[in-house]
Amino acid sequence: MKWNKFTIGAGALLLATVLSACGGTDEPAVAKETAPAQEPAGKFIAEYGKADTEAATEGLELLKPGKVLEGFATTLNGMLKLPHDVTLAGEQCDQVNAYYSPDEKKITMCYELVADGFTRYRDKAESEEENDEHGRANLIDTLYHELGHAVIDIYDLPALGKEDDAADQLSAFIMAQGDGDDSASVQTINYYFASAGDQDRAALPFYDEHSMDEQRAYNYMCWIYGSDPKGYADWVGENGLPEERAARCPTEYEKLSNSWSKLLEPHVKD
Ligand SMILES: [Zn+2]
Repeated sequence: MKWNKFTIGAGALLLATVLSACGGTDEPAVAKETAPAQEPAGKFIAEYGKADTEAATEGLELLKPGKVLEGFATTLNGMLKLPHDVTLAGEQCDQVNAYYSPDEKKITMCYELVADGFTRYRDKAESEEENDEHGRANLIDTLYHELGHAVIDIYDLPALGKEDDAADQLSAFIMAQGDGDDSASVQTINYYFASAGDQDRAALPFYDEHSMDEQRAYNYMCWIYGSDPKGYADWVGENGLPEERAARCPTEYEKLSNSWSKLLEPHVKD
């Protein structure tokens, strides 16, 4: 497993650049009369809990030796002003899951979910490298999705519609800042496509707070394609994004990009 290709930091750093470029360009040339802002003291802190099952141990070993959560925390600490600490925890949950707890101000990445991303599509992947890409994509997308829940809570941001769709939007927005074949965005699209068609339709959890996996896959495709229609032109067509949706994607992306930029701009470090 090659963690040196891990692209989680690059997307977040690019996001910080994009956000800082969005603000301040049309500021009036008058000194602001606001009191000097108190630099918020909070930071993201990585933690690893114990693992005593096979699946959890596998997930722990995928995260801890490569200091994956520490890397994500460092990147986000360089980017976001936090009013308090937020824990980024690897934990044994005895289920494949990840979640944000508003009470504890904690993002939990279950070791089982991390391990699952590296095993679930092993049969479909054509190489070990492709399999690892699915695993990394699962991890990166999940972290950014949970970050979406976290920032909505921490900054008390408005989220219209399903909060889980808003969290997917933030994840797509960050990943769209990547570039090239090894970007998190491409890996994640691969991952979601690999998952499409896996489910028994009658058993789909229509009650779930998330949209269906296939819908999420098309949303991700649409938004990332919409961020660069020329660059991702080959995603449109028979085996990809249908023309009728593709036509709307640049506008969809512009809207989500504007919304997230505006919402996060006051909270991004200079
Ligand atoms: Zn969610």
